[in-house]
Amino acid sequence: MNARHVIIVEDEDKIAQILVNYLKQDGFKTSVISDGYTAVETIQLLQPDFVILDLMLPGKDGLSICREVRQFSNVPIMILTAKVDEVDRLIGLGIGADDYVCKPFLPREVVARVRTILRRVQQQPVKEKNIIEYRDIFLYPDRFQCSIGEVELELSPVEFRMLQTLLSHPGRVFSRDNLMHSSYLDDRIVSNRTIDSHIKNLRKKINEVVGHDEFIHSIYGVGYKLE
Ligand code: CA
Repeated sequence: MNARHVIIVEDEDKIAQILVNYLKQDGFKTSVISDGYTAVETIQLLQPDFVILDLMLPGKDGLSICREVRQFSNVPIMILTAKVDEVDRLIGLGIGADDYVCKPFLPREVVARVRTILRRVQQQPVKEKNIIEYRDIFLYPDRFQCSIGEVELELSPVEFRMLQTLLSHPGRVFSRDNLMHSSYLDDRIVSNRTIDSHIKNLRKKINEVVGHDEFIHSIYGVGYKLE
């Protein structure tokens, strides 16, 4: 198999170079984009297998870049942030990233997470070929698209997988733990509050289309179900 191509968008040379070194050692092909001005266009052009994206960049910031890339691609995106307490806020914004890593980080761990995410992404299409349909909701796992009636929903990868899980058994109650394991690709542990904020985003997006959020019900003390 060809080497996987990782694009690193990072304006701090030192950090970019450390990542390049570790990724290369591990058999990846790498490119570095050192500012935000043309990052989106370059990602679109090069179609990498993975994007590591710093938040604070000259030109366009990482947040906007992530959102814009999500308009045309489901490439896994890992956000680098300097503040630990920023992660919850970022998840709340629903920008569509797959993972968040705080600086300073262990390069080895970053590479391991890249690998895990790529492995999971690769495995997914095999078991998820069919269209999932429930009431007016249509989910196309192999295209990573979801629509309600004719209107397309723009979901982050985590929201998408959460909805997919809920849709897999309408009426069944899923605990926050269930949702966490099925929605995150890297076996991470997140707080209940994080799961709740994803569900809140999901409801909001559904609500914007159908005018109500009666699809997803919260079951007090247990979790969520779709009905
Ligand atoms: Ca920076």
